[in-house]
Amino acid sequence: MFPPAPLESIDWNRLGIAIQDSVNGHVESTYSVSTGEWSAPKFVQDPYIRVHGLSPALNYGQQAYEGLKAHRGPSGDILLFRPNAHADRLSHSASYVSIPEIPQEHFMKCVKLACARNAEWVAPHTSEALLYIRPLVFGSSGHLALTAPTEFTFAVYVQPGTTYHGVQPLPACVVEDFDRAAPRGTGGAKVGGNYAPVIRHTDKARNQGFHVTLHLDAQTRTCIEEFSTSGFIGIRKTGDCVTVVVPDSKNIVQSITSDSCLALAESFGWKVERREIPWSECKFFDEVIAVGTAASLLPIRLLFRPSTGEKFVYGESTGECTLKLGAALRNIMRGKLEDQFGWTVPLQESDLLLEDVAAKTVEGETNGVNGELNGVEKVNSKVNGRVNGIETANAA
Ligand SMILES: *Cc1c(COP(=O)(O)O)cnc(C)c1O
Repeated sequence: MFPPAPLESIDWNRLGIAIQDSVNGHVESTYSVSTGEWSAPKFVQDPYIRVHGLSPALNYGQQAYEGLKAHRGPSGDILLFRPNAHADRLSHSASYVSIPEIPQEHFMKCVKLACARNAEWVAPHTSEALLYIRPLVFGSSGHLALTAPTEFTFAVYVQPGTTYHGVQPLPACVVEDFDRAAPRGTGGAKVGGNYAPVIRHTDKARNQGFHVTLHLDAQTRTCIEEFSTSGFIGIRKTGDCVTVVVPDSKNIVQSITSDSCLALAESFGWKVERREIPWSECKFFDEVIAVGTAASLLPIRLLFRPSTGEKFVYGESTGECTLKLGAALRNIMRGKLEDQFGWTVPLQESDLLLEDVAAKTVEGETNGVNGELNGVEKVNSKVNGRVNGIETANAA
């Protein structure tokens, strides 16, 4: 019967953010410039990927990624949330770093395969846990010139998890000694190069008590762009009238969570504005939310700007509009509320691709070998053919 029940050995309400290498495996597909096509997806029972040490991914940051989620519905079925939108955004990001497009159909096949083969890692409907899905694509063949390599790899990983930040409103501060994205730069792409440079600034902010960091536009430093890993939503209430405002900058990642919130807001009869948001407008908001797949809807307690000392306070408890948006989104994702937008995509037994040769091969090999770790080594050696040294290294 598909899907299988959630694993009973996991305490779903106590999942940390530590990597779970015990999930069943990941999906890989490669693109060869000579054929111009992505290979049929393979399910690999191993968290490791072999990449040439001189690949543009490792040397030049030729890489892009996505993050999406799966939840269980009330009957134990598994629902992906807006995978098509994530497919489109990955190809958009890939285009920034000269990686070929991943056709939506191929993205869907690979994501569904990764989830279906890890279905027992999708938490029970009643728990707050979720399956986080991480598709990534990178230039994988050895290639020193700053030109396109001959091979690219698309992989899909899954990890069980809970919402990244918890649910208490958190304080945020403006990052002022660093610009995340230049006006005509890569800020609109989910490419690795946009994230590593932010780490030391978010670390510094966290040490000063700010768990979330906000970026202003690099050119004028007067307008809101986004938080370091999530989108910005400001909410104003006047009487019964609610207005939801989001920045329309070209330098930000187009948040699918934000887009979903705006659609919900409109369905509630609220006003929605996508436009420039001056920093100075932040003092008029009643609620501010950081929104993203990992964080979900994270209420912001206050916004602080170190250079001016300005501090706009939104409160210790989650605002009513944030609660309403969050509940609707949560319930649609979990199949508890009618999905009038067509956002959720159910997994099916056929997504296991059991009759598909490439998807079966690697798993079939490993199943034949005794034990999990041995199986992993076998995968490496069979897939790549020339990895004897690595087998010992893995075993150590
Ligand atoms: C991923 C990401 C977001 C959120 O996008 P979602 O589609 O809502 O997950 C926002 N900003 C940045 C910088 C991101 O990397």
